[in-house]
Amino acid sequence: MHDVIIIGAGPAGLSTAFWCDELGLDALVLEQAEEVGGQLHRVYNPINNYLGLKAHDGAELLVHFTADLEDAEFDLWTQTSISSVDLKARRISLASGEELQSIAIVIATGVRPRELGVPGEKEFVGKGMIESGARDRDRFAGHDVCVVGGGDAAVENALLLAEVCPTVTLVHRGRKLRARREFTEQLQAKHCITVFTESVLTRIIGSDRVEAVEIQRKQGLKPFQLAVRGVLIRIGVEPNTELFREQIETDERGYLVVNSQQETNVPMIFAIGDVSNPISPTISSASGAGATAAKVIASRLTK
Ligand SMILES: Cc1cc2nc3c(=O)[nH]c(=O)nc-3n(C[C@H](O)[C@H](O)[C@H](O)COP(=O)(O)OP(=O)(O)OC[C@H]3O[C@@H](n4cnc5c(N)ncnc54)[C@H](O)[C@@H]3O)c2cc1C
Repeated sequence: MHDVIIIGAGPAGLSTAFWCDELGLDALVLEQAEEVGGQLHRVYNPINNYLGLKAHDGAELLVHFTADLEDAEFDLWTQTSISSVDLKARRISLASGEELQSIAIVIATGVRPRELGVPGEKEFVGKGMIESGARDRDRFAGHDVCVVGGGDAAVENALLLAEVCPTVTLVHRGRKLRARREFTEQLQAKHCITVFTESVLTRIIGSDRVEAVEIQRKQGLKPFQLAVRGVLIRIGVEPNTELFREQIETDERGYLVVNSQQETNVPMIFAIGDVSNPISPTISSASGAGATAAKVIASRLTK
């Protein structure tokens, strides 16, 4: 029996573990990936908005986080697959067959990039699918590419790629781009970027790597093919809540609903970080929520 089991070792989960140690709580962190850090592994841009610390990218910030955790006492199990969770009983069953029990559970499972769900998307990972404009720019320099999405992340990536690619085609389902004005103004000045609104990418085509995409402009029109070497998809994220959804309150998009103390509607089940915070998915919010959850749990256990 642990005081707290934390599911997920991104910034939110790590912050809770850190605070559990500060407060003398016995904590176990379960992480499905090989390494801790969550989305920090996908941040290739400089992080300039985490008060008190600047980092060239997520990997550098993670070095600081793990250094601070070196002396903290908590158990961490990576590469751990959870097969089911009984939230009311606060019992977790692992794929290995092991059963775990705790007084409180903190859900810190974060979000994952939303998939487009078109043919070719999975097949061409590592063969022309671009993960990040900042990271992969040099690899695609001199080649035509396509970016899907209309928010900040899509437009920012299109702008980055336009610095080195002869043409960038931005495909967006809606009538208007959702990106902030700072980005859309820069877009207008970049003549190598073509924007197709009210359009969808329907297929990624190639033999052993990406060679073209199929785009459907407006309903009813015939799709056409466009030769490209790279495709980057940035159509938002979705919360990792499938394990819990039937047992807990979520919003219409599947995010966990919490009060100001990070409590869900199930007693002693807390949710922190991006999985419960679609409004402000940031490292500072995630680590702050981790501190709140640990403090609230500690106060409950001493009552
Ligand atoms: C490209 C990019 C740039 C960004 N730039 C910034 C920035 O400049 N500033 C900023 O503040 N934020 C930035 N962010 C956002 C920031 O990374 C997130 O807000 C933060 O990582 C959220 O932390 P989290 O712990 O809630 O979730 P995550 O980081 O998503 O971590 C969740 C963890 O839970 C694990 N997990 C999921 N399901 C399970 C399961 N069933 N069992 C066990 N483990 C599980 C995952 O493997 C992961 O390790 C950026 C994000 C991206 C993608």
